[in-house]
Amino acid sequence: MSVESSADRAGMGALPPGSTVGILGGGQLGRMMAIAAASYGLKTHIFAPDADSPAFEVAGKHTVAGYEDEAALVAFAAAVDVVTYEFENIPAESVDLLRRHVPLFPDHKALATTQDRLLEKRFVAALGIPTAPFRDIASRQDLVTALADLGAPAILKTRRFGYDGKGQVKIEVGADLDAALAAIGHAPAILEGFVPFVREVSVVGARDQAGAFAAYDVCENVHRHHILDITTVPSALSAEQTAEAIAAAKAIADALSYVGVLAVEMFVLEGGDSPIVVNEIAPRVHNSGHWTIEGAITSQFAQHIRAVCGWPLGSTRRNGQVEMRNLIGDDVEAWADIVAQPGLHLHLYGKASARPGRKMGHVTRVLPE
Ligand code: AMP
Repeated sequence: MSVESSADRAGMGALPPGSTVGILGGGQLGRMMAIAAASYGLKTHIFAPDADSPAFEVAGKHTVAGYEDEAALVAFAAAVDVVTYEFENIPAESVDLLRRHVPLFPDHKALATTQDRLLEKRFVAALGIPTAPFRDIASRQDLVTALADLGAPAILKTRRFGYDGKGQVKIEVGADLDAALAAIGHAPAILEGFVPFVREVSVVGARDQAGAFAAYDVCENVHRHHILDITTVPSALSAEQTAEAIAAAKAIADALSYVGVLAVEMFVLEGGDSPIVVNEIAPRVHNSGHWTIEGAITSQFAQHIRAVCGWPLGSTRRNGQVEMRNLIGDDVEAWADIVAQPGLHLHLYGKASARPGRKMGHVTRVLPE
């Protein structure tokens, strides 16, 4: 198929190979996006504040500057054909500046909605999709009232800048509320009722510029110390829950007129007919989708690049039974044992120091079904 007919299908001018994709953020997600872009003959330009960013090694160009540096952002926008990002905490002013100069996907609406847990939960609930019960917490009195309402245990989460369990604290019966508020720095927050889930899953899906949506099979995720440890696909969900999970992700993507890959994290309650509860939306490629590099026909990174460049989506079909394990901190020392096993796919992110809790790489195994 020619590039021209692909563009027709996507409903806009597809960026041709040789174009430059600008990526905000230089971590492992940006690195794997840049590798995927290169395989399509696209160039990448990474913008990140840290001179040691793992993505710089695999991209043709990079800019070292802060996300508030207006002059650097304008120069970056002028040097690229489209901008995307690998993390959601980009300041709104920087997003507004960039989008005046260059197309940005996923767009500012997706960012604004997912940067703030309160807006995000209201948005999901308004679509009729179950979430944990939640309350807006702007003061100590709000917390007292909400706790009386929702009951303990409950989870206090900052509205913004939370990830991997940071910016949140569990409140048990009789807990010291002042200590809980101090633990999140008295930041604007929400209180969530505790969901007694039996498993955590995510749906990684993509929407293209013509509005087509495609999801990968539901991923089942196990966390260790609040950080993703293992993803297995297929999940143990019932057929009804699988359909419900994918329908929720599609409804979210459609309502945001989303372009790119997104991940929707969900809780599963006991019983194959219990509803799926949406926890949060990541407006980007996601750790629970790393298995797609070898485990699906189109990786999530290739899929994201296709969508933001106005190309049609690739197939999300799975290649087998897949397990992805993160290499966190010292786990990376096992690299030699991993490469000694010919069936394993090792991915290392090129990070110099293996600090505890730092994602250093991952390893994937694909078995025939
Ligand atoms: P989050 O930062 O919202 O992704 O939460 C991190 C982890 O905390 C989740 O993966 C769950 O294991 C747990 N968690 C978060 N919210 C709740 C909740 N409302 N009920 C039970 N567990 C939760």
